[in-house]
Amino acid sequence: MAETKKINNVESFQLDHTKVLAPYVRLINIEKGPHGDSITNFDVRFVQPNRNVIGMAALHTIEHSMASLIRNRIDGMIDFSPFGCQTGFHMIMWGEHSSAEIAQVIKASLEEIASDAFDWEQVPGVAEKECGNYKNHSVFGAKEWAKKILAEGISIDAFERKVI
Ligand SMILES: [Zn+2]
Repeated sequence: MAETKKINNVESFQLDHTKVLAPYVRLINIEKGPHGDSITNFDVRFVQPNRNVIGMAALHTIEHSMASLIRNRIDGMIDFSPFGCQTGFHMIMWGEHSSAEIAQVIKASLEEIASDAFDWEQVPGVAEKECGNYKNHSVFGAKEWAKKILAEGISIDAFERKVI
């Protein structure tokens, strides 16, 4: 019974994925650790669930690129990992942050990926010894998706379009 309850309490399965309006940054929750430290969880949704999907190679390159682009812009990022549904990323930050603050960081990072100056040389960790599937990358795809997400605009509200 305890296990069932645990599964039911997973926040992302409570979210009604038919009601959201991507692209958006959604603050999932702020969690406190046993020693008082806090972390903030975000749902960084780039495409509309069950309507669109980012191809794995582009998603993989966005993941690698964002690992450094985000850290260049904000301190305290713990993780930025793709959702298995390939519609966006889960972002975990040390401390308390707002969706508006994170949306600005994501927007600026995507603008850099979309820029002409961004090419293979700027994607970290794509050598065979650095990545678990180094052949499955697409800078072209990452750039095309970044342009599309920016053209649609990133909202700071998941259910109402409040584009920054
Ligand atoms: Zn990789």
